[in-house]
Amino acid sequence: MTIRADLSSAVGRTPLLRLRHASALTGCDVLGKAEFLNPGGSIKDRTALGLILDAEHTGALRPGGVIVEGTAGNTGIGLALIGGSRGYRSVIFMPDTQSREKIDALRVAGAQVRLVPAVPFKDPRHYVHIARAYAESLNETSPGSAWFGNQFDNVANRDWHEATTGVEIWEQTEGRVDGFVCSSGTGGTLAGVGRALKARKPGVKIALSDPTGSALASYINRGELLAEGNSISEGIGSSRITANFEDAPIDLAWSIDDQESVPLLHRLLREEGWCVGGSSGVNLAGAIRLAQTLGPGHTIVTVLSDAGTRYQAKLFNPAFLRGKGIPVPDWLEQAFTG
Ligand code: PMP
Repeated sequence: MTIRADLSSAVGRTPLLRLRHASALTGCDVLGKAEFLNPGGSIKDRTALGLILDAEHTGALRPGGVIVEGTAGNTGIGLALIGGSRGYRSVIFMPDTQSREKIDALRVAGAQVRLVPAVPFKDPRHYVHIARAYAESLNETSPGSAWFGNQFDNVANRDWHEATTGVEIWEQTEGRVDGFVCSSGTGGTLAGVGRALKARKPGVKIALSDPTGSALASYINRGELLAEGNSISEGIGSSRITANFEDAPIDLAWSIDDQESVPLLHRLLREEGWCVGGSSGVNLAGAIRLAQTLGPGHTIVTVLSDAGTRYQAKLFNPAFLRGKGIPVPDWLEQAFTG
């Protein structure tokens, strides 16, 4: 037990959890990296810290400066909390489709939140373009006052995962890891962990579990960016190849729908007590598929990216789930009728 001196030094070094049902089902050791235990509540605290440290190092972020970012929410929460603790203000642009809980958490974290319509990346009104333009406008008035984090295409994101998340998984499994699987938003986690593990064990399998509605699985499997369907998961999936995703060493990719992933989440909470969000369900479904592909006796690692409480009104709301055609377990139904 050590004392962590400040918020930044409390990011990372998360436990690896044995996932009982997934392990019993597949005969593998299926492990989840408990990223929801980061101080801001998600894996994106790592991204936020990695980007900030890099920008401080290069001088792009100056003392007292303004952090500007486009995010589905979690990176913004990390930037606002870690940035705030290091003396920066944050202005966060996000699509208006994200959970109320994340928007509230951002505000409480001290960010100035600007909600913008959810439009495709090629549209100039996309939240990433608006965030970049806003940082540029601040810098025009007051040069050097603002820094655009650019998490999707700034590979400081991937590099930080390579140096921290990937190395931690290697050390925690004492090199036993045979496969790693997760979903991709920016691609930072998958590419960073993938590179760290492949460098130490070339035979390790790296897999992408992609939510329906994202084009990445089709890109890996068929070389074309095609998307079908949709998903209630947030913060993952993409219609384009980001700089962070570009060099990810991916061996296998699957498209995972809500009907497959959400029941796994419900079961994980009910039987094992871990309350995690939608992307973790997609990751868990991918971990089961990777374990089944490799066969019994292997060690498979995935990521539990954030907590389910961040999506309470969707993931654990019987009426919402029914509306999406997702099975509602009896215990969840009864939880709201007692
Ligand atoms: N899960 C959640 C809950 C997220 O917010 C994100 C990032 N937006 C991811 C997974 C994906 O991580 P990455 O950006 O490293 O691909």
